[in-house]
Amino acid sequence: MRLVSCSDGARTLTGLWRDGQVLDLAAAGRRLNEAADLGSMLSIIRGGEATQAALQRIEARSSELTDAWLDAAPLRLLAPIPVPVRNVFCVGRNYLDHIKEGYAVAGRETRLPEVPQFFTKATGAVNSPEGDVRLDSRLTQLFDYEVELAVVIGRGGRDIPPASALEHVFGYTVANDFTARDLQRRHEQWFKGKSLDGSCPLGPCIVDRAEIGDPTTLELSLSVNGEERQRGRVAQMIFDIPAIIASLSAGLTLEPGDIISTGTPSGVGFAMNPPQALKGGDLVVARIDRIGELRNRIVEVSRP
Ligand code: MG
Repeated sequence: MRLVSCSDGARTLTGLWRDGQVLDLAAAGRRLNEAADLGSMLSIIRGGEATQAALQRIEARSSELTDAWLDAAPLRLLAPIPVPVRNVFCVGRNYLDHIKEGYAVAGRETRLPEVPQFFTKATGAVNSPEGDVRLDSRLTQLFDYEVELAVVIGRGGRDIPPASALEHVFGYTVANDFTARDLQRRHEQWFKGKSLDGSCPLGPCIVDRAEIGDPTTLELSLSVNGEERQRGRVAQMIFDIPAIIASLSAGLTLEPGDIISTGTPSGVGFAMNPPQALKGGDLVVARIDRIGELRNRIVEVSRP
């Protein structure tokens, strides 16, 4: 099941996405007298198993619901959770080749993390799958990309053991962890350089856990202006998704709708020789097979 949030210009609707069409889930639910609140992605996620069952019934009868199907073309896709309640949780340095390229730039010997390295991106960083990403070159001279698999939490919990961690996953989406490397270094803390407005495109949809099955089979890639820069497999993660959820939830309650971005493979711009910064006009395409792609244009802005 591929779930999207989109705008028709007047309102935000949540839908089932299939073959260039979107099934308006709130309208479909009304037609089938479903009690579940299908009005937003967060209400669907928070509805738990009862709402999941309603979605299954709607999907099974979707061909009858001709009035609720909309042509996707005039709709604007939004981040699947357009305004998350909490910051986007992120894992840094989770692919060996990416760790090596970072240490190589610093001229230091590679050291592997012993536990996942967590940070967050502010909610205002969340951007739509095809949204422009602003670049203020008076603020950053080294703006970079990072394609990542993002996990959306379904059932919340604290102290979740690795063995049952995947049961807490609602689904998966694509994230691009845009990063101002110079701010990241200057502030000696990652939050500022990773939380600029619009620097976290998410989408284009959430694919539910059942449809993805084993997430380690997924492959990520990223291109800039058609030139491939990153390619990796989720199986290459140092800390896998159960380990990440177990570590993050230790003494810290995860809530339905929380988003965890799980790190990026090698090929980032700052580690290239010479380093490559994003510039105005660049088109960055971040893709994960079986989920979809983010297509974001870098737009140079000037501050007053
Ligand atoms: Mg990252």
